[in-house]
Amino acid sequence: MDDQDVLDEVSRAARQAAATGTVASYIPALARVDPAAFGFAIAPAPAADPGPVRGTGDWRVPFSIQSLSKVFALALVLAADGDTLWQRVGKEPSGSPFNSLAQLERERGIPRNPFVNAGALVVTDRLQSLTGDASGALREFLRAESGNPALDFDPRIARSERRHGHRNAALAHLLADHGKLANPVRTVLYHYTQQCSIAMTCQDLALATCLFARHGIRADATRLLTRSEAKRINAVMLVGGTYDAAGEFAHRVGLPAKSGVGGGIIAVVPGRCGLCAWGPALDDHGNSVAGITALDAFTTLTGWSVF
Ligand code: GLN
Repeated sequence: MDDQDVLDEVSRAARQAAATGTVASYIPALARVDPAAFGFAIAPAPAADPGPVRGTGDWRVPFSIQSLSKVFALALVLAADGDTLWQRVGKEPSGSPFNSLAQLERERGIPRNPFVNAGALVVTDRLQSLTGDASGALREFLRAESGNPALDFDPRIARSERRHGHRNAALAHLLADHGKLANPVRTVLYHYTQQCSIAMTCQDLALATCLFARHGIRADATRLLTRSEAKRINAVMLVGGTYDAAGEFAHRVGLPAKSGVGGGIIAVVPGRCGLCAWGPALDDHGNSVAGITALDAFTTLTGWSVF
């Protein structure tokens, strides 16, 4: 099967599956996207001879990255702090919804992993201490890794999430109550919401995801993460990148991946490529139905998984 046949088959399977999902509406502006949109992109990882990005469908249409931002924020903090970060946030599967208050309270302000919302708030808090402008630093980083200097925050999405972000506010206050935030709650929530509102295409995201497929080497061929740090991020994606469905995702797809409620999923084929699938209709866990189906078809057809 050549590349185009794989893309065609991935697209066919994904579009069929999308009908069973629902677009996220708890952030009202997210509900305005076309539920039938679908895009998929493959960016070859080798720094020496990367080759062109290949894609299908709406792979050049920008969408809200939401929780995909959490992996890149984690990369920036790990690069600066190394292993000390793991004193503030765990690395276990959550087994609970991504915005669970009960779990955070039970575990005394140490979030299960950096990809549930509480964990991401801790990472953003640290990035804010390190840079003085957490979301700005993340935007610049994503511009550099995707090679797209025009990508930006979507103010409409940010405003909508800010107006309806009661649960994230509650999580941030709970973290502060446990003495786990160095910055004011308002500042952490502001930057977290900004970072989630960044709009990118499947092409941008597949390229940025190559950081993890290249074991920590950036697009400009400099090293951001040690090989071991990159391995750890991939490991945490595998156990927690798709929340309380990470087991099912590993079972079907077999790649480190991260999902967002904007309908994007990025996935890493170590040493080979960065992938991004996008379809706005979600399942009950907040993962893109078309995205999972597309990645399932991709690993089945190519045999490229970590197992
Ligand atoms: N901004 C969203 C939230 O905080 C991100 C959640 C997600 O993509 N899973 O609820």
